Amino acid sequence: MNKTKIVASLGPASNDLEIIEQMINGGVDVFRINMSHASIEETEDLIKKIRKIEKKLNKIVGIMLDTDGPSIRLDKFKEEEVFLKLDKEIRIYNYHVVCNNTQFSTNYDKITNLVTIGEEIKLSNGNVLLEVIKINEDNFICKVKKEGIIKSGQTIHIQDGNYHLPFMSLKDKENIMCAIKNDVDFLALSYVRDEQDILEVIDMLIENENEHMNIIAKIENERAFNNLDEILKVVDGVMVARGDLGIEIPLEKLPFHQKQIIALANKYQKISLVATDLLKSMVLENNPSRAEVADIYNAVFDKCDALVLCDETTIGVDPVNCIEVIKKVVTEAENDFPYKENLDETFKLVSQDVTSTIAYSVVNADLILNAKGILANTMSGYTARKISYFRPRSIIIGLSPKISTLRSLTLNYGVLPILVNKFTDTDSIIKESIKEYKKVIPSQENDIVILTGGFPLDNKSTNFMKIEKL
Ligand code: PGA
Ligand code: MN
Repeated sequence: MNKTKIVASLGPASNDLEIIEQMINGGVDVFRINMSHASIEETEDLIKKIRKIEKKLNKIVGIMLDTDGPSIRLDKFKEEEVFLKLDKEIRIYNYHVVCNNTQFSTNYDKITNLVTIGEEIKLSNGNVLLEVIKINEDNFICKVKKEGIIKSGQTIHIQDGNYHLPFMSLKDKENIMCAIKNDVDFLALSYVRDEQDILEVIDMLIENENEHMNIIAKIENERAFNNLDEILKVVDGVMVARGDLGIEIPLEKLPFHQKQIIALANKYQKISLVATDLLKSMVLENNPSRAEVADIYNAVFDKCDALVLCDETTIGVDPVNCIEVIKKVVTEAENDFPYKENLDETFKLVSQDVTSTIAYSVVNADLILNAKGILANTMSGYTARKISYFRPRSIIIGLSPKISTLRSLTLNYGVLPILVNKFTDTDSIIKESIKEYKKVIPSQENDIVILTGGFPLDNKSTNFMKIEKL
């Protein structure tokens, strides 16, 4: 069983009960719904489908809604797409105009304030480049430096461009209300710039009496990267959003940024996700490239919690096949991972309190005894997260009577969430946990498992460890 979590984005290629079921059976832990593409009705329909299959399969599946965020986007073109030809002049307006291959407008009415002469503007994921040559009162003129196709609604990347927009648009607020109403597990926030952006969203959640939704900040511009410490203090996790980050910073700097973001998230004991292009060739083909396989393997070695498939599962030829492929690569990387060295290094970095000492001991005992599983009883998810942070070799069975806790654990490395009744004494914790374990993991006589948790159960710290032979 793989421990690095797999997130699949849903789209036209996967918006289907049968495919969702096959993807869950294949190993998807969390589904992402990108609200830049899906309407509220479509989103609610997808949520219903996921919950229906989750129930049918008796599994715990997380749902992540992903916001638009403060991005500058192209207005609607008359045609589906237009071609911008090399050296042609394009005029970009502050107000809405008919958009074609010589002029267009955006969702920002002061765009002329954002540009300087000589500056480069990136369109279509950086595939089309413009250079600003003249700025007028209500429009500016660019020359096409790199030709190509652009489409309605695409993000337009201007240096520091989104820093002037309010963090939440009306649409974002409606989308966040949709996340609250449907009680989704994760809210991924696009184009975050600093912790203030996050605090605004947290305020909104509190106002609407939802304090348990987990917030994932998408790190997709330089400013967010520079504010990463402050951001990590207020979120549950961060996503290395390589698609946009790779446009906003020089592409060759992306691997360093990825490693830094994951390392810092680990330092703060927060979740980290890596997104975009993990299996890009599988959007069109049935096999990954060598480089993609190496990229996935390396991300596991960097110690991220989860990998996010994007176009591969939204518009790809075979989303279910992508899950099979990524699972194989992840499992291979996990077999090779240096657990003992990592454990000792990790323990040196943490404050050596009771919880950390128990977590360390559990993971160490797991290695020494070649145990077959760690059974973590948890009300809030705290114990399971602590153990996960030390990256054990065995799977962590996270046992809780709270469905929201279990779903919130779907992104944490190594945690397999299982719903159980509320236990009232340590004897029943041990007996019942082992019973639940045997239901999900094929086990043999004399297999060793390690039990841990806090007792009494709603105690916020982890305070026991027990080694059992089956
Ligand atoms: P997106 O985010 O797919 O919503 O753009 C991921 C990324 O930018 O990599
Ligand atoms: Mn993005």
